[in-house]
Amino acid sequence: MPGLGLTSVCMNKTVSFSKHSVNVFFHILTKCNLSCRHCYINPSQHGNEILPIETIINWLGAFTNTNKKANLIFLGGEPTLHPELGHAVKAAKQMGYASVTIDTNGYLFCDILTKITPDDVDFISFSLDGATKKTNDRIRGDGCYDTCISGIKQAVRRKFNTSLIFTISNENVHELSLMPPLIKDLGIDRFFIQVIGMRGKSAKPKKDRLQVDRNTWLSLIPAVAAQAADMGITVTYPKVFLNNSDVFECAGRVADNYFIFPNGRVYRCPLCEDYPIHSFEFIDNRLKKRSKITEEDLFALDIAEGCVMNKLVQPDNLSYNKDGTPGYKIACCLLKEEVPGVKSNKKGTPC
Ligand code: SF4
Ligand code: SF4
Repeated sequence: MPGLGLTSVCMNKTVSFSKHSVNVFFHILTKCNLSCRHCYINPSQHGNEILPIETIINWLGAFTNTNKKANLIFLGGEPTLHPELGHAVKAAKQMGYASVTIDTNGYLFCDILTKITPDDVDFISFSLDGATKKTNDRIRGDGCYDTCISGIKQAVRRKFNTSLIFTISNENVHELSLMPPLIKDLGIDRFFIQVIGMRGKSAKPKKDRLQVDRNTWLSLIPAVAAQAADMGITVTYPKVFLNNSDVFECAGRVADNYFIFPNGRVYRCPLCEDYPIHSFEFIDNRLKKRSKITEEDLFALDIAEGCVMNKLVQPDNLSYNKDGTPGYKIACCLLKEEVPGVKSNKKGTPC
């Protein structure tokens, strides 16, 4: 990649899993105004409910009665379609959540920016899947690019901390290196690069492969992250590929992550979300552990390829040596690399 600064690569650090914090990813509804091509929301598995504010507050309370630091991300669907999102954000802070983030497609419904202040929320995170209108709108829908850029500008103008999530696939990887200058120009604080998961709509059979291959990933992502870091932007991206000598850890075994859906299902692993194998469930507003067989029975399996769920739901990213052994391991999808922005002293985010 000519022209990409690499001075920050040496500052990469793997963000270790921690048992001292709880990360809550709360889908408060599945309704959305968009219909993105890679949407992972699966209403038949996640429900169609718009959770009442009383239920949201009740469920939030299930993760704060510990001595662990609790981080919260509000998701949907599009969470700003929930008329009580502002109330939920303020309630979460009052309940002791150490950080609160809103992930949005940028439409910022219900005048959300007037319902909360920069003190109420740690980050507003915008999803954009192309550096150009053509690429982004092909994936996310007509008009989405302009609306999202306008939403980012409004949030920055009002002094909210902002981040941007770019979900990489073969449909937009060619524009990744254009993202750091765009992010810098918009005044966004943090850049999250995501790998597309084969779940929801992406799991449906397709003519072309969506996930970028290992060589492309390893040659491109660290270089673009370094380029962004040199511009002062802190970057987080999934590790994805481990060498055989690297230690593999499953977050389902060693960390405390909870992915909550409006039908009450609570997963520990995002790759399990298309299947009724959730670890917990809210029943009558109480968080109940489910009996076998759940995703936790899969986390316990040790395989040479690393992540069990990866092998089950998206094995195309694996490759094998002539003797049948895996060429490398696939990391937990929750294992991240972080490259701090040079001269950046902004607040960190929860995950
Ligand atoms: S904005 Fe999010 S929830 Fe809405 S369709 Fe796109 S990926 Fe799905
Ligand atoms: S992605 Fe794989 S390694 Fe991570 S929690 Fe799920 S099963 Fe475990």
